[in-house]
Amino acid sequence: VTSEFDLIRRHFARPAAASGRARLGIGDDAALLRAPAGAELAVTTDTLLEGTHFLRGTHPGRLGHKALAVNLSDLAAMGAVPRYALLALTLPKADTRWLTAFSEGFFRLARRYGVELVGGDTTRGPLSITVTAIGEVPAGKALRRDGAQAGDDIWVTGTLGDAAMGLAALQGHIRLTGRARQHCVECLEMPQPRVVVGRALRGVASAAIDLSDGLLADLGHLCERSKLTAEVWLDCVPRPDEISACRTTAVARHMLLAGGDDYELAFTAPPRMRAKVERAGFGNGVMVTRVGTLKRGSARVRVYEGSTLVRMPRGGYDHFR
Ligand code: ADP
Ligand code: MG
Repeated sequence: VTSEFDLIRRHFARPAAASGRARLGIGDDAALLRAPAGAELAVTTDTLLEGTHFLRGTHPGRLGHKALAVNLSDLAAMGAVPRYALLALTLPKADTRWLTAFSEGFFRLARRYGVELVGGDTTRGPLSITVTAIGEVPAGKALRRDGAQAGDDIWVTGTLGDAAMGLAALQGHIRLTGRARQHCVECLEMPQPRVVVGRALRGVASAAIDLSDGLLADLGHLCERSKLTAEVWLDCVPRPDEISACRTTAVARHMLLAGGDDYELAFTAPPRMRAKVERAGFGNGVMVTRVGTLKRGSARVRVYEGSTLVRMPRGGYDHFR
């Protein structure tokens, strides 16, 4: 039988990379991190729970990827550069094949962004994965939700709705086959955090948020914090070709605006920054699209199709509703 300590040693205690920054990583009671001069630490945590955030039977390598990716997405939305992660794992059993695949998925993404795993916790129980990610951002330069101004443009990265369609396809709510299905399921299970774009938007964007619960809900949070109203132009919202698999416009709209799991960035910037925004996106291989504008007013999101106000149910997933 594998002990808790063998498990950690075998799967998670990787020898520190040559570029390792942590003074002390896995193996002691706490990690020791150097606080960089002139920088602030951005710290975030997110849990993936079986049945709530992923379907039973999801490939463990993809879970390892996603558990880290959703946290890197939060750091990206702050304009922070990811440095460290902690991993709190609750497992029903010490399944070596599962753990090997999980850690491969986790570390492949960690390596890509130079993230060091510096600690965690391992317990037995229903499958639950919590990652804490720590990044650095020059003091005062983080992208926050409360920095937007009336008159700013609203932008998003990538296309929206891909992941929601992947989930709907897995659940049998929509029919997707072949490459279309593969694309959407991959967007759901292997989101690519917009770390490079987030960093490039420092000093360009006035506010940012990452899209985990759908554009309407998350842009709503940004509006609340900035005390402004968002006007979103439905026709401009970038969508995947696969959206045509939605049989009704209501379903397509839901996927696009309220589906969730996009892990794209929504951000705001003054109109004079348009060229710089495009360079931050396209210059790093990521599409950026202007989807609306901010108005004075009471912290809400309005969606227009042409000049017609579209009625949308209040979106966003609430665990306790
Ligand atoms: P303690 O009981 O002092 O909290 P643990 O026995 O839980 O310590 O963990 C031993 C060491 O292994 C600690 O440095 C901890 O951060 C690390 N660790 C435990 N579980 C994980 C994990 N899943 N991933 C990475 N590091 C882990
Ligand atoms: Mg412990």
